[in-house]
Amino acid sequence: MRAWLVAIATGSMGPYGPLGGPFRSASPHTPRPPPPVQPLPARLLARRAAGNVGSRGGSLMQVLTISPRGYCYGVVDALTMARRVAADPGVPRPIHVLGMIVHNRHVVEDLRRQGIVTLDGGSREALLEQIACGTVIFTAHGIAPEVKAKARARGLTCFDATCPDVTRTHDVIRDRVAHGAEIIYVGKRGHPEPEGAVGQAPGHVHLVETTEDLEGLDLPGPVAVVTQTTLSQWDTQALIDACRARYPGAEVFNEICLATQQRQQAVAQQAGAADLVLVVGDARSNNSNRLVQVAQEIAGRPAHRIDSVEDIRPEWLRGVRTVAVTAGSSTPTQLTNQVVDYLRALPDGGPAEGAAPPPPAAAVRLPGAR
Ligand code: SF4
Repeated sequence: MRAWLVAIATGSMGPYGPLGGPFRSASPHTPRPPPPVQPLPARLLARRAAGNVGSRGGSLMQVLTISPRGYCYGVVDALTMARRVAADPGVPRPIHVLGMIVHNRHVVEDLRRQGIVTLDGGSREALLEQIACGTVIFTAHGIAPEVKAKARARGLTCFDATCPDVTRTHDVIRDRVAHGAEIIYVGKRGHPEPEGAVGQAPGHVHLVETTEDLEGLDLPGPVAVVTQTTLSQWDTQALIDACRARYPGAEVFNEICLATQQRQQAVAQQAGAADLVLVVGDARSNNSNRLVQVAQEIAGRPAHRIDSVEDIRPEWLRGVRTVAVTAGSSTPTQLTNQVVDYLRALPDGGPAEGAAPPPPAAAVRLPGAR
């Protein structure tokens, strides 16, 4: 067995170790820096001033690619780990992932082509019951220690692709509970990240999605508020304020990750220059759905989430001169590029009646896959 496999199996190094590069999480309790201010879309304005003329002489639709967008480092590291596990003949077969490694069905399909089976549709503990032998990969969303221990007890070889930013949240939860606090965890019910977070200290972590959930709680003693990493900054602040009003002494750990903050800020600051916003991302991707919400509620623009180019409806584009494109942090770059290429070839004002529909989505290949 290789040295790195032994090290991971025995827990003698972080989950990334030799597979995923340096551990890049900030130390626990370090305040997150504010996201940088994004530059105005000068290139877009220059293109508009120049007339934006296509090669055949007609004006083309202007496409504003919002930046930053797409893959975050946590997703890249998780996919790199999965690819290396799949390529290593020394790793016991079969290889399963407990849930979608990141929330994108195109990524899951590419993993399947590489021999990795994704189990989906239940709690992590229930999914684990379906694996009798071989290898299991835990997803970027994090995993409860009890599930991890059960996987090891079943003799499975385990790889943990939990994002360092999620691990940091788990560290905060365990630390505050060890100091006697009850945790209000602001998160999305049914999403795997809260499942892993609640499992850090069962009985002491209380999932809150709405102010009604909060009103239903009556917590004794000290309280700490911890958030899921991929929420809307604006919604979360309102819930944090409500927590502070109900528990004035509560410590607050706003754990929305930097990648999520930056993508949301970019939409808030740049999407106002567009008539329409398209967010490329999977229906299950919380951060993609939040980008749609930010475009609509903060930038004040009509916005749609699309899985890929083939989801674009021509009627959305009628009368549109400028369309902004962004992507969730689990969206493969190939899918976003295909959307941008399609839009850039359209005439100003959208496709003509009877024009060809968008092309089918391209097959996705993971970074570094052969
Ligand atoms: S969105 Fe944030 S928490 Fe989730 S994988 Fe990316 S960096 Fe990590």
